Amino acid sequence: MSYQNDVEVFMKIGSQPIQKELTLDTDEAKLYMKLISEEYKETLDAFKNNDLIELADGLTDMVWVIMGMCNSCGIQFDNVWKEVRASNMSKFVDGKVIKNDYGKIMKPKSYFKPNIKNALGLVKT
Ligand SMILES: [Mg+2]
Repeated sequence: MSYQNDVEVFMKIGSQPIQKELTLDTDEAKLYMKLISEEYKETLDAFKNNDLIELADGLTDMVWVIMGMCNSCGIQFDNVWKEVRASNMSKFVDGKVIKNDYGKIMKPKSYFKPNIKNALGLVKT
């Protein structure tokens, strides 16, 4: 199971279509973008109010509605995550980041940008 699968089960019971093909043109995509915005605001309020319990709730709700958005658009989140993780990890050299004199983290030669098109299955091999 994954977070995305958990939300898929919820959405199926709630009669919300799960998209297997990539699309932005669904009512659920509009709905889930609204929900992401609402949950973000709740999370921000929790942080401003120094409320750790509400913050944890808000962060988890955000993950939930983000997975709902992925399901509404046909995005296989794990595939995109793996690509972004690999890109971020490529910033390390010998397990460390390289910073310039001002403390900015620099991109080493090993760095590569995430290939999101590929992760979405949009590149034919
Ligand atoms: Mg909430």
